[in-house]
Formats: sequence, C-alpha cells, structure tokens
Amino acid sequence: MGCCFLLHDGDASVMIDTGLVGEPFFIRRRFRQLNLAPRSLAAILLTHGHLDHAGNLAWLKRWTNAKIYAHPAEQAHVDGVYPYQGVNRWCGRLEAAGRKLFGYQTAKIDEPLADGQVLPFWGGLQVIHLPGHTLGHCGFYSARHNLLFSGDMFASYFFNVHKPPAILNSAPEQLPASAEKIRRLQPRRLLPNHCDGFNGIRHRQRFAKLYGLPDWMGCGVNPARPNP
Ligand SMILES: [Zn+2]
Ligand SMILES: [Zn+2]
Repeated sequence: MGCCFLLHDGDASVMIDTGLVGEPFFIRRRFRQLNLAPRSLAAILLTHGHLDHAGNLAWLKRWTNAKIYAHPAEQAHVDGVYPYQGVNRWCGRLEAAGRKLFGYQTAKIDEPLADGQVLPFWGGLQVIHLPGHTLGHCGFYSARHNLLFSGDMFASYFFNVHKPPAILNSAPEQLPASAEKIRRLQPRRLLPNHCDGFNGIRHRQRFAKLYGLPDWMGCGVNPARPNP
C-alpha cells in the first residue's frame, strides 16, 4: 500500500512510518539482512496517523521497544477518533473498516514533534510540519542527504502523479502553503511514501510540476547547500 523507510547509520537506525499490510514480514526480514537487533531501533517516526502509515505502530513499538515520535495532532488518527467532517468522513469509514479487518491496535505517541525541531537520528532529521493532508502531517528533512521524506504531500508513480485524494485531506486549504514551504526548503530529493522507486530527483521534479512550482534545482538556486 505504500513504503515505510528504515534509515540505518552506524549502530543506530530509525523507521519512518510502519505500513499496513505485510510490513511486519518485510521489516523483520530487512532487520535480519542488516544484522540488526530489534532493540537497536532508536525511534519510530510517524509522518501522520492514517491507517496505511500507523497500521503496524503498536506491533513495531512492542517488537523494538522504540519510542514513537509524531506531531501531537496525530494521536486522534492513531486512536481512530479523529472527528472527520464532510467528504472526509469517507476516510474515517474506510479506516474504521480497515482497523477491523486487520486487527489494528492503537499506540501512544511518546515524543510530540514540533516544526523545525532537529532529531538526533541519521545525521540529523529536521521536522517539517506540512499540514493539509492531516493537521499534524510532518515531513523529515536530512540536510546531510539533502532529502525530504515528504509523507503524503503527493503520490508519485510514472503513470500517475497526484495530490492526496480529496476524501483523505483534513485541511486541503493548507496544502498549497505546505507545498510552498517545501519549495523554500529546496530539497534536492523528495521521497513520498506512495511512489514507484527511490529516485528522489525524479520525485522532486514531479512534485514541482504537480503543484505548479518552478523546479528549484533546475534554475541553480540554493548554491550554499551541498548537493551530493
Ligand atoms: Zn495519508
Ligand atoms: Zn498514505
């Protein structure tokens, strides 16, 4: 249904999001391949609390004993009690059905995130609050890799690049400002959770086109930042 990311660096690793179907198998396998003990996971970072991102949150926390980091506004999504309004109610209905179907368990956010905060993982991950899809939706920016994990700001497949569908957005009027915030940040690479591979440059180009923004790397801006 989407990607979650395991970032590994020296002795420490962190997960971004936890997926919904099949991830426990893949996550366990990847830990084995990298010779990582479950307890070596330092943190679970959540872009937002929709079911396809928080689906295995409780399991991963139990398995690794890692703390959950997320924007506090996402706890209502994780708990399945977010008061969806209007067309957004369909999102709530779909999630309620999914929670039942997959035996979902809720989990508590241990560390509330705030915009601009730099987390001491993977050489430093900056929290970029990008509301719109949900109110507490956050991206995670690695200055070292000039890479933004952009959550559900958009989905990026070669046959279909699209903004999150209307029924899934809690505050769609805030999406353009969040897109503009990404443009100002000017990451060289973007990695959305719903995508067709890990070419972050291609995703950045698709994102800029989708939101009607100039491709910031195409015009030589931001020379101060290293672009490995
Ligand atoms: Zn979502
Ligand atoms: Zn999603």
